[in-house]
Amino acid sequence: MAAPSMGGVSLPRGNGQTVRLPRGASLTDLAERINAQPAALVTALFHLGEMVTATQSVNDETLQLLGAEIGWIIQVVSPEDEDRELLETFDLTFGDEEGDEEDWSSRPPVVTVMGHVDHGKTKLLDAIRDANVVAREAGGITQHIGAYQVVTELDGNERPVTFIDTPGHESFTAMRARGAKVTDIVILVVAADDGVMPQTVEALNHAQAAEVPIVVAVNKVDKEGANPAKIRQQLTEYGLVAEEYGGETMFVDVSAITRQGIDDLLAAVLLTADASLDLRANTEQDPQGVVIEGKLDKGRGPVATVLVQRGTLRQGDSIVAGDAYGRVRSLLDEHGNKLKEALPARPVQVVGLTSVPRAGDTFLVVDEDRVARQIADRRQARIRNAQNASMRKRISLEDLDAALKETRQLNLIIKGDNSGTVEALEEALMKIEVDDEISLRVIHRGVGGITKSDIDLALADDVIVLGFNVRAEGQATELANREGVDVRYYTVIYQAIDEIEAALKGMLKPVYEEVQLGTAEVREVFRVPKIGNVAGSLVRSGTIVRNSKARLIRDGAVVADNLSVDSLRRFKDDATEVREGYECGIGLGSFNDIKVDDVIETFEMREKPRD
Ligand code: GDP
Repeated sequence: MAAPSMGGVSLPRGNGQTVRLPRGASLTDLAERINAQPAALVTALFHLGEMVTATQSVNDETLQLLGAEIGWIIQVVSPEDEDRELLETFDLTFGDEEGDEEDWSSRPPVVTVMGHVDHGKTKLLDAIRDANVVAREAGGITQHIGAYQVVTELDGNERPVTFIDTPGHESFTAMRARGAKVTDIVILVVAADDGVMPQTVEALNHAQAAEVPIVVAVNKVDKEGANPAKIRQQLTEYGLVAEEYGGETMFVDVSAITRQGIDDLLAAVLLTADASLDLRANTEQDPQGVVIEGKLDKGRGPVATVLVQRGTLRQGDSIVAGDAYGRVRSLLDEHGNKLKEALPARPVQVVGLTSVPRAGDTFLVVDEDRVARQIADRRQARIRNAQNASMRKRISLEDLDAALKETRQLNLIIKGDNSGTVEALEEALMKIEVDDEISLRVIHRGVGGITKSDIDLALADDVIVLGFNVRAEGQATELANREGVDVRYYTVIYQAIDEIEAALKGMLKPVYEEVQLGTAEVREVFRVPKIGNVAGSLVRSGTIVRNSKARLIRDGAVVADNLSVDSLRRFKDDATEVREGYECGIGLGSFNDIKVDDVIETFEMREKPRD
């Protein structure tokens, strides 16, 4: 059958065959799978009314439309599907298993605190943590590990509740975006002296989208001007009607400062869970769950806080978390106590992984170390591929020369550890004088780590992000790496100024360093007609490489620099390189002043990586 011709380029027809592509694939990826020229696919798509470049990622519908046109059925595979298939090859699944009825028991609810900035999320999490009777008795110092569990009394029973210790919507949505459903209940914090604000509504929307029940904590009731009734009133407009008004949402008046109402809040969480959720988990299956936080600890190596969702995690288990794997060496709770095992809804620090997993990664326990490793390896390979594919080169200081010619403006985002240094840095940078046509613009500044939204902002324009005594937070690093955003860290102001100044002046050329390749000792000098003098030499160290740079040394002094190995022979044959201990003939081009016992030193100039 004849290949269809589009825009003069022929394409292999699929005849209804199926081709599988990862979500976000480019035409180049498709071309590779169906053995076509990327350019032909670009043209074909152009004829269908869409203009994309060969390496740009293309959405599902467009891929399918193009596929239909050229006779291929295109199956777009999401990363989740891919991962599911990967696990299936090991006979594993992530998710609830049936199991025997008696293996299931009730588990504590997992709570995330959300709300508008400054409404008291952090303070409330502190107050709840301190209200924990059991912790106080244990006398342990509570550490921040990303989640903690408290025990409260309800109707005479001691009941644990798990809190995710990173307030805010970021972690909630980030986890959800990655397919990890962690939160059972959201505590929506609203300051009684302020009322419903934009992020209150945003939080509410996130929770409702995830179909997670909400308990409202009306905070700061100790403050003058606090009006808890107004909050109840305002929230009815968003479908949250307080129980006392005949609705289904529990509102609790609290003060994170005076600690008033904390116990009631915990009770409300449990009552809401009991009323609307059937929180049970199989404790006997292979343990699975989600990574809440990961970090590299100086002494202990990679440490991950995980939330066990089902099964019972034990010391010695072979675990794979995202693309990290290892054997659980120890399990620690938020007081630093060693645990033998962790039941569902228990957050624990896991020590023993070989690398640091990311927040939102799922973890599984498998029978053998080998399986854990194979899964991790396959995931790593996939992440690498995806990164390579989507690597879009953004501006970097080194590219600045070129970029400046077009934009004549360098955009910066400055983040620092306190407002004083950020101001000082900005002020100093603005004082840099370069020619009038180049300008420096600070498009955003702030105190705190470099966040995902900083990187998002940097993506909109070509921007360089400066971190002064601060680092990029987890997701931000990932995004910056993936999108190729230039993020630079400084601890001294003048260093930042120097680099930006150098960049602006276009002085940041690559730095080269000399790398020695080899030396040879001249044993004899031959006169070769038409070529000139050739040094019959013995390679003393390294390798002599044809076309490399060379210098000639006589009695310890450099006689000639800037030479090159124009000809290299071993016996009668041309050689590209000759190794230590072998004899060879070296011709240094038109340079003929060669004497016996001279040393020929060869080297190359390599670009020095900047640190
Ligand atoms: P977040 O941005 O939501 O985490 O808010 P924070 O927990 O950082 O609290 C913001 C500010 O409100 C801080 O200055 C707290 O001391 C204050 N604050 C928090 N809760 C209360 C409260 O119950 N009463 C009073 N008076 N102040 C509070």
